[in-house]
Amino acid sequence: MLLIVSDPRCLEHRAPPGHPERPERFKAVDRAVRAALPEGLQTRYATAREATREELLRVHDAAYLDELESFCADGGGMLDADTFAGPNSPMAARLAAGAAVLGVEHVLSGAGRCALSLQRPPGHHAGRGYPMGFCLFNNVAVAAAAALDAHGLERVLVIDWDLHHGNGTQDIFYKDPRVFFFSMHRHPFWPGTGAAGERGEGTGQDFTFNIPLAEGTSPKDVRRLFREGLAKVAKRIDPQLVVLSAGFDMHAADPMGGLGLAGADYGQMTHEVAELFLVKKGAMGLVSCLEGGYNLDALGESAAAHATALHAKSCTM
Ligand SMILES: [Zn+2]
Repeated sequence: MLLIVSDPRCLEHRAPPGHPERPERFKAVDRAVRAALPEGLQTRYATAREATREELLRVHDAAYLDELESFCADGGGMLDADTFAGPNSPMAARLAAGAAVLGVEHVLSGAGRCALSLQRPPGHHAGRGYPMGFCLFNNVAVAAAAALDAHGLERVLVIDWDLHHGNGTQDIFYKDPRVFFFSMHRHPFWPGTGAAGERGEGTGQDFTFNIPLAEGTSPKDVRRLFREGLAKVAKRIDPQLVVLSAGFDMHAADPMGGLGLAGADYGQMTHEVAELFLVKKGAMGLVSCLEGGYNLDALGESAAAHATALHAKSCTM
């Protein structure tokens, strides 16, 4: 069974006018995914729950959590040039992180092989002690840490196919061999990190694997490099769980500078991840969390293709 976490309370995280990470993104993905996959025997929709402070503290500093809360309680505003937070943003961010943990619980309880969170704000640019790039809490990192620390897993693979490098996730797990971080992204590009030479440090050495994509890389090459990258990762580890940073801003229509992908490409890439790690390598499941994607139609189309592929895969396993 596929669990889809969809909670309209994330609309309370409101952007200033004209900001690309706007509440309408949630409405677009929710509408498109529900149209593609109605609630049914093999698809369950659930509201989120807020991540607890203990769950957040596994990957974030206490001082950062406290500073963010008091900033927002005082009315909020811009945290940096790109990242905003208002009075209800901590609640929405806790729901986005908690939705990711719900996905982990769904998979590890044996209720189903796949889960998808449609919550915002996104998370992969947020580090231990900083918000960044529209992200407040690192949702996929909170999910991976829950699998490790609350459920006793030893090997988690995080795959990040957002257009932008998942610098926050990389930072959090850079020295941690329990999490293998695989990111494919446009480079050089914002946020500047994600060169092929960034491979982890200390006991985490070679547990980070970046595939930088030059501007103008064709969709065919993006798909090939992704497939080849996954094959290399599969030779390195047997993950017990896969957590996916599912940004859809490589879509051709994305205003951030996409890489020419179509919605169907995300369906195919989803199929490849599940086939390799869930079917062949025996991982328990896949937990996917929405990251970027800023053209509403392209976002809906891509998320629907992704969800449909997750559904097909979780029903045939
Ligand atoms: Zn992005």
